[in-house]
Amino acid sequence: MTKDFKIATFGSHSALQILKGAKDEGFKTICICLKGRDQPYRSFKVADEIIIIDSYYDYFKIENDLIKNNAILIPHASMIAYLGNENIKKIKANYFGDKHILDVESDREKQRTWLMNSGLITPKKFQNPEDIDRLCIVKFHGASGGKGYFLTNSKEDFNKKIDSGKKFIIQEYIVGVPVYIHYFYSPIKQELELMGFDKRYESNVDSIGRIAAKDQIHTPIETSYNITGNMPLVLRESLLPEVFKMGESVVKISNNLTSKGLFGPFCLETVITPDLEIFVFEISARIVAGTNISTNGSPYTFLRYDEPMSTGRRIAREIKQAIKLNQLNKVLG
Ligand code: AMP
Ligand code: AMP
Repeated sequence: MTKDFKIATFGSHSALQILKGAKDEGFKTICICLKGRDQPYRSFKVADEIIIIDSYYDYFKIENDLIKNNAILIPHASMIAYLGNENIKKIKANYFGDKHILDVESDREKQRTWLMNSGLITPKKFQNPEDIDRLCIVKFHGASGGKGYFLTNSKEDFNKKIDSGKKFIIQEYIVGVPVYIHYFYSPIKQELELMGFDKRYESNVDSIGRIAAKDQIHTPIETSYNITGNMPLVLRESLLPEVFKMGESVVKISNNLTSKGLFGPFCLETVITPDLEIFVFEISARIVAGTNISTNGSPYTFLRYDEPMSTGRRIAREIKQAIKLNQLNKVLG
């Protein structure tokens, strides 16, 4: 029964939404917080219990408390970025999602193969800086939130900007509008749901247009993509059939990658060109913070549900249904 389990997550990223959603579904909640980061979780009253730790690695010191409480841990990017995939695999507490899909997600090469095998359009990748023949974006590995990415259009410029200690990839820069697509795949109902869209607010790239070109020329600005927030978006309706097809395709192909495949929330990160081609430059195989704009539900979840359905709440509902049907093994990894 729901009351026999608790929902736990780390206090950052999408924890407010996850914990609120869990409470709305009748679960007791636990927020694991770094010292000094607990105020939002107390103020918004989303956590029945707050466990304070000094560093993310101290998670393992408090894990037994979670296990005793029959807690189900919901992963998000902050947990993955700060604990790391290898530590995540050592988690013994109940864990929502498939830990193995994270290995595919965090390896840009494997991720790209997954997207391409799913028939999605991806930006061209340049193996060698010598091959750069157009505007490219240089990215680093891991969930760094766009920090330090830079644009380049030649080998010479690349060599000037690159920090040689870092593992990077060079990708064709797609000129269009960025659109983040949020999905939820239910392993219980075996159905894909479209949860909504968002647009990111990144510093400083989203502010370059506030400076006139004549002033930009005299200032050595480097564009950077550090995420600071998210904005709501609805998509041109005629693009929705393609959006569903894309989501279904990545779920189908994920079954060749891990035993349980991709399930729960995930996001396709795209740029849509003036020809309405949807280029997918990344996949996140877990809840993304862009869903925080829909804590009270999105225009799309409103169509399907009679109550506010955030992605956090949708996770809790899936767990609740799995408990009821005695199928928890389908949602825990
Ligand atoms: P934080 O806990 O805010 O330091 O975030 C950890 C990681 O989660 C960042 O490096 C980002 O990759 C990701 N992240 C956090 N917030 C957002 C957001 N609002 N949108 C997209 N990604 C985010
Ligand atoms: P990511 O860390 O992959 O989510 O990328 C951070 C940001 O860089 C995105 O939100 C986009 O604004 C931008 N971006 C990433 N890849 C591309 C691309 N191939 N073309 C254009 N913009 C991109």
